[in-house]
Amino acid sequence: MTNSLIQFIRDTYQSNEFIPLHAPTFNGNEKQYVVDTIESTFVSSVGQYVDKFEQQIEQFTGAKKAVAVVNGTSALHTALYMAGIKNGDLVITQALTFVATCNALYHMGAAPIFVDVSLNTLGLCPQATETYLEENSSLNADGECIHRHSQQRIKAIMPMHTFGHPVELDGLLKICKKFNLVLIEDAAESLGSFYKGKHTGTFSDYSAISFNGNKIITTGGGGMVLCHSKNAGAHTKHITTMAKQPHAFEFFHDEPGFNYRLPNINAALGCAQMETLPDFLKRKRLLAHHYQAFFKNSDFSFVKEPKHCQSNYWLNAIICPDVASRDTLIKETNASGVMTRPIWQLMHRLPMFKSAFRGPLINSEFIETRLVNLPSSPTDIKEPLHV
Ligand SMILES: *Cc1c(COP(=O)(O)O)cnc(C)c1O
Repeated sequence: MTNSLIQFIRDTYQSNEFIPLHAPTFNGNEKQYVVDTIESTFVSSVGQYVDKFEQQIEQFTGAKKAVAVVNGTSALHTALYMAGIKNGDLVITQALTFVATCNALYHMGAAPIFVDVSLNTLGLCPQATETYLEENSSLNADGECIHRHSQQRIKAIMPMHTFGHPVELDGLLKICKKFNLVLIEDAAESLGSFYKGKHTGTFSDYSAISFNGNKIITTGGGGMVLCHSKNAGAHTKHITTMAKQPHAFEFFHDEPGFNYRLPNINAALGCAQMETLPDFLKRKRLLAHHYQAFFKNSDFSFVKEPKHCQSNYWLNAIICPDVASRDTLIKETNASGVMTRPIWQLMHRLPMFKSAFRGPLINSEFIETRLVNLPSSPTDIKEPLHV
């Protein structure tokens, strides 16, 4: 299996060199726009590319307002802050996520509650979330959801669209309503992914996208907060730019702010990347179908986009039949210069989150020991295999 997979990936990328998991692609106006910022000297906190990049993201996602920030983690931090997460709050999220989701919570003084994921989405499971809340919380006289054991407030649900596969948003929104909770999507990985025709990250009042070097598009480092209204967006912009009141020369800051502004030079890269995003998405979808066909009739199951969803297929993934085959596959592919990777260790295994509350994590543990990510950079496939 491994040898034919290595050959298949080498043929797909037409390369005998090292094949990374996900490399940035710059084949548009990147150089021109970046040079433009240098020649104009507007590389930093002032310049037209930030506004333009935000507008491109608004147009593409349908968000009412997008606010550019320095990275995905700061976008998450800002989203949590704007959504009203307070010191001592609890937030339901996945144990199967990248650590940044939980770090952002930690820096708000909040703590995660880990709930299981669905096998078909790899994201937060609505049934498991509802069961957890029914067994462990009650609404107080003010309608707040109170965690019975700790008497802390459960304020929000923060799902993550794993590898670009949308979670079951309808189910989660219903639970938010029933238990009076706020939804905050970690959409760091899901630019270009849609749930029932609507872009991920636009189902919550505030959500976060990342433009780190390994994401579907990159600004070097960067992130975006998607906001539910123009007003909310204006306030978000204000607090991410140190809450300074506009004035020609005076410094007056009217609330505690963050210095999370995305530099113009990074936004320039983002503007060019947004122009090529539709092409990336097409090529990545083709690549996903190519992999899917390869693994058909094998013991390995390819992770497909969930029903009613369009995934960006940011990172392709397979589920191996058992731990031993997973370990062999990862070892042999990496040894021959084809990069593959296991999924993250579950968050409750990390020292800083080991005492977090949690429900049963049966699916998370299953995926943790069997999933492998495959090389996923956009490529040109001459003749896709047929599924
Ligand atoms: C990449 C990522 C982030 C953080 O983005 P950075 O830009 O690296 O800070 C957050 N959450 C998830 C799920 C991610 O994959």
